[in-house]
Amino acid sequence: METKNDIISDILQLFNEKGHSEYGGEAVTQLEHALQTATLARENNASDQLITAALLHDIGHLLHDLPNDAPLKGIDDVHENKAAVFLRKYFPETVTEPVRLHVMAKRYLSSTEETYYSLLSEPSKQSLVLQGGLMSSTEVSSFEQNPYFSDAVKLRKWDDQAKVQELTTAPVEDFEKNIAVSLRSYFLEDSL
Ligand code: FE
Repeated sequence: METKNDIISDILQLFNEKGHSEYGGEAVTQLEHALQTATLARENNASDQLITAALLHDIGHLLHDLPNDAPLKGIDDVHENKAAVFLRKYFPETVTEPVRLHVMAKRYLSSTEETYYSLLSEPSKQSLVLQGGLMSSTEVSSFEQNPYFSDAVKLRKWDDQAKVQELTTAPVEDFEKNIAVSLRSYFLEDSL
């Protein structure tokens, strides 16, 4: 049976083994992107759960073997769903829902904030088309009703800013504590 420590070390290992791959056409690696996103969450006094979501929001990219430039080839890797399915085993909705909704939040912000779309990076604009493009007004209002709407939008904004080349951040081990306290209560009771 998996213990709290097993889960944390599996996650850190995934980053250490696969995090050095390029982040879909951006200037940073997957690991740098994850750390920058989590650092922004921490600087904005987010909860442990939202910091964990920020760190793990793109873990879906580390769980498949599609090429990093899949969107450029017209393939949507649906990484947000892969991540949510994987994370649900270990974390509550306060972690998994902002992760699952971070692509939806990009569609939302592109549809509702004029400058947002223009500031998206080129690879991010390209993947938006594959991810469903702009939202209809019905989609906009139903997304606003989602209990995790505001966390998903916050996460998305940090995500978009977390593409700075050669920015020094804390190492992934520094976020172990945020991950540990965010696990499902079942794992927290585990004293091993
Ligand atoms: Fe991201």
